[in-house]
Amino acid sequence: MSYRVSVDPEVCISSGRCVADAPDLFRFDADEIAEPVPGAPQPADERALDLARACPSGALLVHDADTGEEVDVFG
Ligand code: SF4
Repeated sequence: MSYRVSVDPEVCISSGRCVADAPDLFRFDADEIAEPVPGAPQPADERALDLARACPSGALLVHDADTGEEVDVFG
């Protein structure tokens, strides 16, 4: 399985958690909303799940790269 992580900018509350935990993957945009670092590789699946679970607002979304379906990170 291969996961893809994205940020829902409407849900991000700028906590900075993902930026602090994974500066290789996420940064703040000009409005201090998290966004993927351009060109960054996708994290390993377990790291993707850990990052999504740690986001306090649920703004980090994980999708199955093959099916496109959203993964329930707490499931
Ligand atoms: S952890 Fe979630 S709420 Fe915090 S900056 Fe990242 S996406 Fe936004």
